[in-house]
Amino acid sequence: MFSDSTQYTDDPTRHGGRLRSFSHVRGHWATYVYVPVHPKEEFAELLDDLLDVARRNGLHLTKMEEFHISQSQTVILRHHWIQPFVQSLRERLSSVNRFLCVAHRLKVYTNQEKTRTFLGLEVTVGQQQLLDMVSEVDQSLQEFRLETFYQNPSFHVSLAWCVGDMVDLLQGAVRDHLQSMVDDFDDSEILTRFHAEEICCKAGNKVFSIPLR
Ligand code: AMP
Repeated sequence: MFSDSTQYTDDPTRHGGRLRSFSHVRGHWATYVYVPVHPKEEFAELLDDLLDVARRNGLHLTKMEEFHISQSQTVILRHHWIQPFVQSLRERLSSVNRFLCVAHRLKVYTNQEKTRTFLGLEVTVGQQQLLDMVSEVDQSLQEFRLETFYQNPSFHVSLAWCVGDMVDLLQGAVRDHLQSMVDDFDDSEILTRFHAEEICCKAGNKVFSIPLR
């Protein structure tokens, strides 16, 4: 009744700017692992200010719908692998303790295809714990023969994105200006501290949470 493979046009606004560089196949679920980040309300003001300045410098960025620190790339899981994959993550990660992350250093990223640019806050405190978790997540990915994370991850919270490789527009004086806005913002130190309390796996539209201890 249904063909197994359906080509469709990806709409990155439906998944926070993440670009699927593969076509959708029925029964195959785009899956990624991440630590959710829930910033305080005032964080939205800081973000609006940053995007205003970026706009005045010719760059129209779209705010992320949710914030997170990625612990994997987006991989494709067959539907019947989702539960076993999440179980494998649970076994490896449920004894990990909660920890603090600080992310206050602005950094620009592109996806691997360089078709999207992201303005992010790089994690400067909490990296070791994130690396330890990625090594566990990588082992689960390997069990399912899936691609592991970056060899040299730069953990970050993406704030906003735009289409194309706009790295050059966000370097130098513009970056320095944006960074000084982050540093000088009221309660900046508090706004850029996050507690990692759970690790989540999103497969299609389903989210599985693994609380940290
Ligand atoms: P995210 O918001 O976690 O999806 O990250 C935004 C983009 O940063 C993704 O498309 C990643 O592929 C990209 N990225 C580029 N270099 C790195 C790196 N060293 N570590 C983590 N993500 C990276």
